[in-house]
Amino acid sequence: MELTELLENARRNEALLKRLQAFELQLLSCQTWLDFLTLLLEGLPAQFDLDAATLKVCDPDGELKATMLQSLDIEQGVLLNQLEFQSRVPVIEAGSVTPPPPWRSGLALPLLRNDVYLGQLRLYSASDDRFQPGMATDFMQHLAAVTAACLVMVKQSEEQARLALTDPLTGAENRRGFERAYQREWSRGQRQYHVFAMVLLDIDHFKQVNDVHGHGTGDRVLKQLCKTLKRVMRPTDHLGRLGGEEFALILPGCQPDQLARVVERVQQAIRQLDVMNDQRQRVPLSASGSYISITPRPHQQLQLSDVLDFLDRYLYQAKKQGRDRFLSVEQ
Ligand code: GH3
Ligand code: MG
Ligand code: MG
Repeated sequence: MELTELLENARRNEALLKRLQAFELQLLSCQTWLDFLTLLLEGLPAQFDLDAATLKVCDPDGELKATMLQSLDIEQGVLLNQLEFQSRVPVIEAGSVTPPPPWRSGLALPLLRNDVYLGQLRLYSASDDRFQPGMATDFMQHLAAVTAACLVMVKQSEEQARLALTDPLTGAENRRGFERAYQREWSRGQRQYHVFAMVLLDIDHFKQVNDVHGHGTGDRVLKQLCKTLKRVMRPTDHLGRLGGEEFALILPGCQPDQLARVVERVQQAIRQLDVMNDQRQRVPLSASGSYISITPRPHQQLQLSDVLDFLDRYLYQAKKQGRDRFLSVEQ
């Protein structure tokens, strides 16, 4: 190799190294799945003249998929196409791979952190000679190591954020989490002319449940209620614990004509709750509530507290009318 060619190679490598280092710093500052995945799957191809990047993640219990989907939201559907969740991802060595069409060359990088195999990052190019068998991959392996470390860090940071927004007893969203979910649904509804529904519910005679069966049984009722509600709700719905035994639901995309049926299902599920007291006797339960269908309009702002005020008034009526019933807010 000519000296000038060697020098030229060295200069190119140095420039690539600098760009990679800058990219790695950006990766290290990501705290949410949305930031991390956008940077990795869109930023990386854009900054390094690649045509696609995909991520295969080891996710035996489906936990990563659930948290990533929640953080990405439905609107980032494009990113989802570049993500694959598998209970077992084959362990590979870094190296070139046969790309899926239309790409002409590809590189697979294992993501390892403290000897734990987290998945694979794959890079694809439309040019034949971008990734060739036997090519040196040290720079890219460094990037893969940083990516793996970031994957673990973002997972922890998302988990912490989730805990701050979650009620520890029931796993439902706490007031702050629910407020955030409401804001998000309201904005999405405004942008996409989406209708959503809200339900407010309060367990009937819960004080009596505590007094007769004990606080421990009361706690089990709350936990079981949330577990059951989550089962009858869609994964994109929200369940918030607003007070002791008062809960609210946000049902994105629930059409007004379906709402009464959904509420009926919720009510049935509560009536059928199978919670035993310490003497293994079944505790009969019911709830009262109210529901409303909301269509966000452009340039309008309806605060959560205002919606809850409406719902509260009808909830009070439902209690007054004898409990174990849900009333529709008439608008
Ligand atoms: P109503 O049918 O009118 O709603 O009557 P109620 O007894 O359900 O309502 P009230 O507001 O009088 O009582 C709510 C009870 O909920 C009182 C409180 O001790 C209990 N509570 C609040 N938070 C918890 C909790 O975390 N665990 C348990 N076990 N009980 C709780
Ligand atoms: Mg109550
Ligand atoms: Mg109450």
